[in-house]
Amino acid sequence: MMIVLFGPPGSGKGTQAKKLAEKYTIPHVSTGDILRENLKHQTALGLEAKKYMDRGELVPDEVLDGVIKDRLAQPDCDSGCILDGYPRTIPQAEALDAIMNELGKTLDVVVNIEVPDAEVLKRISGRRMCACGASYHIHFNPPNQEGICDLCNRPLYQREDDKETAVMNRIAVYKKQSQPLIEYYRRKGVLVTVDGTAEIQEVFEEIAAALDSLQAT
Ligand code: ADP
Ligand code: ADP
Ligand code: ZN
Repeated sequence: MMIVLFGPPGSGKGTQAKKLAEKYTIPHVSTGDILRENLKHQTALGLEAKKYMDRGELVPDEVLDGVIKDRLAQPDCDSGCILDGYPRTIPQAEALDAIMNELGKTLDVVVNIEVPDAEVLKRISGRRMCACGASYHIHFNPPNQEGICDLCNRPLYQREDDKETAVMNRIAVYKKQSQPLIEYYRRKGVLVTVDGTAEIQEVFEEIAAALDSLQAT
C-alpha cells in the first residue's frame, strides 16, 4: 500500500508514520529525516538543504524529486511505503505521479491530518528528538525518564527549526505552498481526512480503520 501522510508541521505525521509502518510492515519514508541524516553526514545534499531548513523554508522541488525517486526504487518499497513530508507542493505531487508511473506503482491514499495552528505551535515547541529517530513531547508524549530516549537511552534534543523563529515561517509556508495539495488529492479521489487533535492512539486507530476499509475493497 502506498500511503501519503499529509498535514502541517507538528500535526503528528512522523508519530503516526512510525506506528503505521510497524502495523503494516512497510517502510517509513520521511524526507525530513533523510535531509537531517544528510546534514549530519555533511553530504552535498545536506549542506544544500540546510540553507532552507534553518529558515523554515522548503528545499527546492528538484532536490527532493531525486531523493524520492531513489528511495522509492529500493526493493524494500516494493510492497509500498508510508511517505511522510512528501509531497509538499503541487510540482512535487506531479513529480510523484510521474515517478510512481515509471516504477509501476499507484498511490492508494493521502491521509490529511487536520490540526489547528494553536495546537501545532504547542506540539512543535514541546517536541524533543533522539538521534535514533524517536520523537517525544515534553507534555503529550514524555519519555519514561526526562530528557532520555526510552529506546536507546541517549539524550533528547530540540530540532534547530523547532525553535521560535523558524516555526511561524513553516506554518505560513505550509498554508501557501502545501495546503493546495488537499484539493489536488480530493479531486483525484484519494483523500481521507482525520481529526489530528485526538490522542496519539486514537488518531492511529482512525487512520488504521480508514486504511483497512480501503484494503478490504
Ligand atoms: P515537519 O514534520 O515538522 O514539517 P519535516 O521534518 O518534515 O518537518 O521537515 C523539516 C524541513 O525539511 C522542512 O521545513 C523543509 O525545509 C525540509 N523538507 C522536508 N520535506 C520537504 C519537502 N518534501 N519539500 C521541501 N522541503 C522539505
Ligand atoms: P510531524 O511529523 O507532523 O511534524 P510529529 O509526529 O513529530 O509531527 O509530532 C509533533 C509533536 O507533537 C511531537 O512532539 C509529538 O510527540 C507530539 N504529538 C504527535 N501526535 C500527537 C497527538 N495526537 N497529541 C498530542 N501530541 C502529539
Ligand atoms: Zn533513541
